[in-house]
Amino acid sequence: MARPKKYRIVEYSLKPTVFKPNRKSSVQVELTIDELEAIRLADLEGMYQEDAAEIMGVSRQTFGRIVRSAHRKIADALVNIKEIRTGKFDEKCRKIKLMKCESCGKIWKVPEDYEGSECPKCHAKNVHILKIDN
Ligand SMILES: [Zn+2]
Repeated sequence: MARPKKYRIVEYSLKPTVFKPNRKSSVQVELTIDELEAIRLADLEGMYQEDAAEIMGVSRQTFGRIVRSAHRKIADALVNIKEIRTGKFDEKCRKIKLMKCESCGKIWKVPEDYEGSECPKCHAKNVHILKIDN
């Protein structure tokens, strides 16, 4: 088994926020930025855990553990009416952008300040940032 890498890779556009239930609640659960990224990839993008784990730079087992932890916290918040805080960056995470090629479907990682726009696989120019709302 590969040695775990030092950083967990997360999408650059994830922002810290707070979700408050209508009813007053002083209790909070905190979703870490890597948990938020894991459920984004697994639940929102519908990726296989294996692919999502590779994108985040963790093992599939670690990815599964992160997703389960996130699901448990979200369930706890919904059922027990707690606030959800998300997305504080910490030293174990590194921000990246995910790019997707419209020609061949390749998805790859670039640093958050990367400006280029060519697919490393087929060299097509019609690539875009893989984001939450598009
Ligand atoms: Zn391509």
